[in-house]
Amino acid sequence: MNVYIGAHMSISKGFHEVPSNTRKINANTFQIFPQSPRIWKNKLPDLEESKLFKENMRKEDISFDKVLVHSSYLVNLASPREDVREKSIKSLISQINIVSRLGLKYINIHPGSYLYSTLEEGIDKIAKAIDFVFNQTDDKNIEILLENVAKKGTNIGVNFKELKDIIDRTAFKNKMGITYDTCHGFDSNYDITTDESVENLLDIIDKELGIKRLKMIHLNDSKFPLGAGKDRHECFGDGNIAKRNEGFKPFLRNKIIRSVPWLLETPGDDEKHKEEIIKIKSLMGW
Ligand code: MN
Ligand code: MN
Ligand code: ZN
Repeated sequence: MNVYIGAHMSISKGFHEVPSNTRKINANTFQIFPQSPRIWKNKLPDLEESKLFKENMRKEDISFDKVLVHSSYLVNLASPREDVREKSIKSLISQINIVSRLGLKYINIHPGSYLYSTLEEGIDKIAKAIDFVFNQTDDKNIEILLENVAKKGTNIGVNFKELKDIIDRTAFKNKMGITYDTCHGFDSNYDITTDESVENLLDIIDKELGIKRLKMIHLNDSKFPLGAGKDRHECFGDGNIAKRNEGFKPFLRNKIIRSVPWLLETPGDDEKHKEEIIKIKSLMGW
């Protein structure tokens, strides 16, 4: 079975270590942060580091376009505070320069939070920010993926309508896709534990966005039940998705889902993720 499975990996020992660490957990793809996710500052990897990273990608036979870079948590393109929004835009541009230097393609962002403004204003700010960012990006290969987020606070992107509204307003529609996070989706009341519910979910994605925009899966279980809106990830197989109906099986056996990479963002280290990958494969009989 040719599927792409991986996990979020640490960059603390340098980007060049990530491909071999990925193979150590029996994965064939991965997600990384381009920088520390909770500080603004970042640094473009030097040419030697990026050369070594690319060499190791080829050596470990990992496809550059199956890998995901997750932008830092501080970025809020919807912020009604102009200073925060400006900082966010600048930061996203420099994070995209890192993605480009590494020869990668996809950067995942949380659309943003509208805070004390309105959803409408927030969506507009995000689309305008994305246009600005793409206009500043020389690397024409880069695509931005909007992640569906948990229905919590003033988060934007809790359903596909909101993601669609952002994409519709950008001038770079052909460079926009989505990441579907199973924990966040479960938080927003999208069940995936029966064949019917999976069909239903994919129908909605197709109607709102076109199924081709679905580029990546964040494969997380949820500590809380359907619709809870808590955003608490649980290890694969230990949470409320696994416990409900047929668990993850209907989702993972779906052809469309199997054609895009699955990335674990579950608690625990590489060793734990390795066990989870074994669990996924045995659940699916691979
Ligand atoms: Mn995320
Ligand atoms: Mn996620
Ligand atoms: Zn989450």
